[in-house]
Amino acid sequence: MDVIHKGPGDLKVAPNLTDYAKTRASFSWSAVPNLCGAMGEGGCNIAYAAVDRHAEGPEADRTALRFIADTPELTTHDISYAELGRLTRRFTNVLRGLGIGKGDRVFVMMGRVPELYISILGALRNGSVVSPLFSAFGPEPIATRVNIGSADVLVTTAAIYKRKIAKIRDELTSVKHVLVVGDDVAGTENFHRLMDTADDDAPIEHTTADDPSLLHFTSGTTGTPKGAQHVHGAVAMHYITGRYALDLHEGDIYWCTADPGWVTGTSYGIIAPLLHGVTSIIDEAEFDAQRWYRILQDEQVTVWYTAPTAIRMLIKAGPELPANYHFPRLRFIASVGEPLNAEAVWWGKRVLGLPIHDNWWQTETGGIIVANTPAFDIKPGSMGRPLPGVDACVVHRDESGAVSVVTEPDIEGELALRVGWPSMFRGYLHQDERYRKSFAGELYLSGDLVKRDADGYFWFVGRADDVIKSSGHLIGPFEVENVLTDHPAVAEAAVIGKPDPTYGELVKAFVTLKTGYVGDEELRRDLMGHARKRLGAAVAPKEIDFVDALPHTRSGKIMRRLLKARELGLPEGDTSTVETTATPRDSEVPA
Ligand code: ATP
Ligand code: MG
Repeated sequence: MDVIHKGPGDLKVAPNLTDYAKTRASFSWSAVPNLCGAMGEGGCNIAYAAVDRHAEGPEADRTALRFIADTPELTTHDISYAELGRLTRRFTNVLRGLGIGKGDRVFVMMGRVPELYISILGALRNGSVVSPLFSAFGPEPIATRVNIGSADVLVTTAAIYKRKIAKIRDELTSVKHVLVVGDDVAGTENFHRLMDTADDDAPIEHTTADDPSLLHFTSGTTGTPKGAQHVHGAVAMHYITGRYALDLHEGDIYWCTADPGWVTGTSYGIIAPLLHGVTSIIDEAEFDAQRWYRILQDEQVTVWYTAPTAIRMLIKAGPELPANYHFPRLRFIASVGEPLNAEAVWWGKRVLGLPIHDNWWQTETGGIIVANTPAFDIKPGSMGRPLPGVDACVVHRDESGAVSVVTEPDIEGELALRVGWPSMFRGYLHQDERYRKSFAGELYLSGDLVKRDADGYFWFVGRADDVIKSSGHLIGPFEVENVLTDHPAVAEAAVIGKPDPTYGELVKAFVTLKTGYVGDEELRRDLMGHARKRLGAAVAPKEIDFVDALPHTRSGKIMRRLLKARELGLPEGDTSTVETTATPRDSEVPA
């Protein structure tokens, strides 16, 4: 197998993690610097560690957040740590003025504009529980989530309110206050007017590591999204993973492309970079290949955290585009959210000059768990190895539900984590039984199937729900998709099991093509041949459909369950998180 070797020549600065085995062996969470210690008596608050600490420190004047407006000129607007401190304290006072305090729930729904970041951090300082909602959600998913979470406050924009919320306002019975950014709207309170009259001083609420912080809804890839409850103690995980998995250093210009509507966009789009006192780039616009290359170049991004869908779209846009841009300061690229096929890792090395470091985690884990770090070689196609402080293993469940740990390498099983990492979720909202069933003794069961090789690298096989049973074989969709995307014509592939009287399930692939290719019979035969040669006849797809686009969640994940339902003519189930091009753009939202 081809491995990407790490050597001193690859590095622009010495990485934070150099000796993986030694750091893991000596690691202890209690030894993590007590970031929140200055609050005293066991106090711990994410916003304190992320903002308050720096707003008063030597880095006060450093840019914390750099917003790039949704215009072709890429106009920027900077907020320093000191200013972010002042604005978040004001928002804490706004909430207090409305009688909203510790444990009350504040839902925030808007595009990636400054008010989103100020509201989330100001509410965390207030000890309130924060739930960010995707700005592109329609009325129904908004109502469902707001009602499941019993929101007390909803912070949004006048445009979103008028378009989506006004008509369902009566259904949101728990909501006492709606704050809107922008024009005055009947039945709401004006965000900026409240901010303008609020005081700059607001002592932080006393919270402990076990107090609730964020409520995040999962992506809804496999079914109805679940509300995962997190705690302030997660801050230790955000800090350590920012250090070891993203290699954040002082002076970094860091760009996380995820929206705070899903967990990557808060854990790593807000919290981790602020904890490390670096400058975050926040693009208010949606994906555009040329724009993204420009941002990487013009902003001199040093650390970039993105997702496989985005990388596949960049690959699809062709190699000529990046040839016009230069990224001499770019030092580290990481990806999360879906399996990253080996070809994408190599593409990074060829086109951007750096390999892409895949890492794995979930809404439930709150932070990065398994990662390719700067400290060891990359085996392209692997998710990497468990981070220091994380104990991951492969398990089998028998029919009675009993769980056993697999010790031999290269055996497929469920990825499980020993309880003890600080950002573990503490409940699925209103689903206690489901939460309990996610654990077997001291192990959290992730629902994802993996293999661990003899060197301790984890390889993603598929979600337990997506695994295909064909002629007695268990086939992970990723293995097949990976081979299909290795074909030069293929941009993206999704594989499902289609019930079949002969095979039990037959492997069916849906494929989108790169620009310039035509999905005809000849290409289909060529692709079938390519897959058979690499995978063998039993695993290769028996059917291939060429499609214009695959259904994705708003967080960028391929929704195989939707492809399957459509193929079989079954109900589509929860579609609240499906990405649709018909949704009005968030750029309509005033800043
Ligand atoms: P739902 O739980 O509602 O079905 P979801 O699982 O997609 O949605 P998230 O918590 O956003 O919601 O996503 C976590 C999942 O994404 C993981 O369980 C895994 O299946 C997938 N994933 C994340 N990172 C990777 C990766 N590097 N490789 C493979 N899969 C990944
Ligand atoms: Mg999930």
